[in-house]
Amino acid sequence: MNIRISGRLYDGVSATSTPVKAVCDGSGWLSIEDVDFGAITIADIQFSERVGTIPRTMQFPNGKMFECDDNDSIDRWLSQCGHQTSWQHRLERNGSFAVAALVALALVILVSVRWGIPQISNLIAARLPTEVDVMIANGTLEALDETIFERSKLSDLEQRPVLERFNQLAAYNHEVNFNLVFRGGGWIGPNAFALPNGTIIVTDELISLSKHEDELGSVLLHEMGHVVHRHSLRQVIRHSWLAMLSLLIVGDVSSAGTLVLALPSILVQSAYSQEFETEADDFALARMREHNLDPTHLANFLDRIERCAAFDGDAISECDGSATINRENATPQTSGWLRYLSTHPTNERRTARFRRPKD
Ligand SMILES: [Zn+2]
Repeated sequence: MNIRISGRLYDGVSATSTPVKAVCDGSGWLSIEDVDFGAITIADIQFSERVGTIPRTMQFPNGKMFECDDNDSIDRWLSQCGHQTSWQHRLERNGSFAVAALVALALVILVSVRWGIPQISNLIAARLPTEVDVMIANGTLEALDETIFERSKLSDLEQRPVLERFNQLAAYNHEVNFNLVFRGGGWIGPNAFALPNGTIIVTDELISLSKHEDELGSVLLHEMGHVVHRHSLRQVIRHSWLAMLSLLIVGDVSSAGTLVLALPSILVQSAYSQEFETEADDFALARMREHNLDPTHLANFLDRIERCAAFDGDAISECDGSATINRENATPQTSGWLRYLSTHPTNERRTARFRRPKD
């Protein structure tokens, strides 16, 4: 049975086409109606693959080309002559396959985001040169100084014991050049941050909330854990990993500027993952044992930060840490005193670990 297919014939020389009808017979021969074209067997024709409703072409050995929108008729002729339709088209028409492909694609995206990007970020963080750490840390501290922090109100005399304790705790590690800086916390209140080059920022408000030198010491150890495990870098690279990938491939250190722009807001606004907090806690716990510090100090300190959440600004001096915890009214968004906990999420299990560190 003949199949007539309407389409356009190109002469293979110019871009102009002529509307024609191709006549295809059941024995596999094709001719063009009303055109001196001769007959061409199906075996000598190159068919373009069927993709959706995109017009399909038949390329002839004489250089001419037939193009048409009637994909069904071409498939019917191919099938009549015993030719299979393309596997792509068969898959495309298969609803179950389309659903399975969508599910597979969603899974690939999910796995990439959940495990792929963190893994790549860790690899990149481990390979970044020290000069990148320093550049990011300096840029981040500068940005935080301009936008949030104030000059520390603590005198040299008040800073000295904190600094001495910090240096004692940092002395064990010769690979990281730890450095403590003091700042007024501004609206962010009591907090501590670890920058990638080993600089740890502690706010006056956090120091004034501490009732025992080992409470502050335990928080500083926790922050050192963030530095040693390169958490700030890993976190920021997770947010800007494409830029970092190009840094690694092209080797252009100046593209680390992307991280300098991103890190201040990531440090202040978003919490580290539970995985990072646990790593920093593990580090702090191990060092506390080495230094014979009682781990309950960190639990007590975290509890006090939470209890004093209702006392904002200078009123912190009125907080003796015995107030009842009011989690409903003092939210991290409205209370500066809870910001340490919002950037270092605590929970009962975490503080319980420090109360029973051998568990
Ligand atoms: Zn932390």
